[in-house]
Parts: sequence; structure tokens; C-alpha cells
Amino acid sequence: MKYDLLVQHGEVLDPAAGLRGALDVGIAGGRIIEIGAGLSANEARQTISARGLIVTPGLIDIHAHIFVNAHDMGGHTDHYCRSSGVTTMCDAGSSGSATFAGLRHVLDTAVHTRVRAFVNLSALGIVGTSRRGELSHFPYADPEGCARTISENPDLCIGVKLRYGPNLVWEYTTEPVKLARQTAAMANVPMMVHITDSPIPLPEILAEMAPGDIITHCYHGRANGIMGQEKQFLLKEVVEAQRHGIVFDCAHGRNHFSFPMIEKALDQGFLPDTISTDLTLTSATKGPVWDLTTTMSKLLHFGMSLDDLVERATSAPAKIMGYAGTVGTLRPGANADLALIERRAGNFALTDSDGNTTTAKERLITRMTVKDGRVWYERPAD
Ligand SMILES: [Zn+2]
Repeated sequence: MKYDLLVQHGEVLDPAAGLRGALDVGIAGGRIIEIGAGLSANEARQTISARGLIVTPGLIDIHAHIFVNAHDMGGHTDHYCRSSGVTTMCDAGSSGSATFAGLRHVLDTAVHTRVRAFVNLSALGIVGTSRRGELSHFPYADPEGCARTISENPDLCIGVKLRYGPNLVWEYTTEPVKLARQTAAMANVPMMVHITDSPIPLPEILAEMAPGDIITHCYHGRANGIMGQEKQFLLKEVVEAQRHGIVFDCAHGRNHFSFPMIEKALDQGFLPDTISTDLTLTSATKGPVWDLTTTMSKLLHFGMSLDDLVERATSAPAKIMGYAGTVGTLRPGANADLALIERRAGNFALTDSDGNTTTAKERLITRMTVKDGRVWYERPAD
């Protein structure tokens, strides 16, 4: 038998690899070994029909949280990932130098999702208080420890995380951003900067960033976003930054995803470079995020193409996470991670982080997730 598993009759969509159309995916030894039309079922131990479904690389969520206060999403990570086609995710700075061993333990003992992580500039990582955040006192910043954690954990760590917002940083100047950039340079990785409700204008933050660095929560509707205080037109600095290789990640979350901002930004031609959830246990169980395919459905509703959505939830984050060619692609040789997605018509109520609602005429639903060549999730018929 040539194939352990053959996924047949689906509509393949992997824009970055130039793969699309009625193609079968042949899998052996946990890897994709062949992709083409009419692959022989006689050569397969197991076949799966993907008729009527879109077959994409396993989805990648570059901004979510496994380890916040040691529980969020913790042992529930696999449940929320696999039921939404996500085979790979990135913990966006939940832990810092003093708490990273805890995250590592959760990953080693309770999580099968493929994971990478940003390490918080704060030694504490993200702390669960609404009054004062992880860098509200300067001594909590640990640039050396952060860089050391990253270099000691090269299989996991891909960058430095800074949350820049009111009560999150010790002073409302560019100093915290500068320190995060220095730390990233020390560890030779990019940094990710959270910008929701920033006390300083976004161009001041962008001026401290290097190509490959990531702005996250790019569609938040609070102060100092990508359209400044007027919230009407994209700042020219934002357009310039994206052109120069600053990555804009959407990271939905409970506070960072505004339909009016998305509508205006997409109208003005500004697309996110990566699509992510900022998922935590709360936003997965109480909404409005729910999961990655829901976030993708919202952007689909406001006019993004399926090609653009898939690319930004597979190959684009794969490249940033150091997985180019092995994860986030259906090319032969890659890990056999697949999402089988239904594009369902109907009336679907969608809600953003500010309570705005809209009715979409279609939505994306994960029917099956394959990870490392094995069926990892199958949605019951409904
Ligand atoms: Zn986050």
C-alpha cells in the first residue's frame, strides 16, 4: 500500500503552494507524499471523502493563549484547536522568564497541538489582574532573562512579546517598545507588540520596529489604532510599515476586533498579514471569538477572499513560526496536517468585540482535522 490515508474528492486550496482544485491528498508515514487528480484508492489503507469540502493545510493560529494563570487554555487547548481545524498554534507571551517552565510543563504533559511561543518581556508573563498588568512596574521587565529563555528553548520560542496599553507598561513613552526591540535583537528573533488602546500614537511604536516584527490586534476599535484618533482613514505610517515588512496580525480577542474598523480597513485595501484568535478559555466558551474558523468567517463576510484567508491562516504564520515548507502547506514532504472545511450558506449572527452584530450569508465550519496523517477530529453530522 502506497498510502496510509487518502483524502479524496475535495476542493484543495493552498494558495501559497499554487495548489487548488479537485485534487486528492495521499499520506504515508505522517507526511503528504503525493497530491494530484484521481489518486488510486486501491493503494490506500484508509480513504476519506472530502466531497463538497475545501481541503486546506491544517490551520495555524499565531496568537492564542495556553498558559495564562496556569490554566488558560491549558489542558483544553487540543479540544479548541482540533475542532476548528487548527493543528498548530502560538502562545502569544502568556509566560515570561520566571514562569516559562510552567508553560513548558503544560505543553509536555497536556497538549498535542503543535505549539510555539512568544516569551513576555515581563518575567511574570501575563497576569490576571484587570488593574495592573505585567509591566506596570519597571522591575518586572527582564530583558536578559527573556533572551536567555528564548535561546535555551529554541524548539519552542520564536519571539518577544510586549503588551503596550494603559496600565500594562511602566511609562507611556517609547521606552518599553525600545526595550522589547533590544531584547528581540539580543535573542535574534522578532517581537510582537499588542497595541489596543495604546496611550501613544501607533506611528511612534512603528518607528521603533524592525521588518519581521509583528503588530497584533490591528483591528481594535479603541484609542490609537491603525486609523489614529479619527478612525476614518488608514494612517500613512501603517501602510508604509506593512510595505516595509512589519506584520499586522488581527488577533480577535475579547477587546480587539471591531467590525467598523475591519469594514473601513478592507475597503481601503488593508488586509491583515496573519489571522488569529487571541483565544483564551473565556473567549472560546463565552465568545465572541469561539474559534479560528469563526474569525475567518467574519473576515469573509466583510469581503476577504477565501484564498487570502487561507494563506493568512496557514503559510503566512508558518513562515513566521519557522515552519516554512513543513507545516502550513500541502506540498509533498510536509507534515500531513489538513483541515476539511465546509462553506455553509444560511443566516449566521456574528458579533465583534465591541458588541456590534451582523448577519452573514455563509460561514466556514470545520468538518474534519487531520494531524500528522491521522484523523484528529471529526465533526458529528448536523
Ligand atoms: Zn493575546
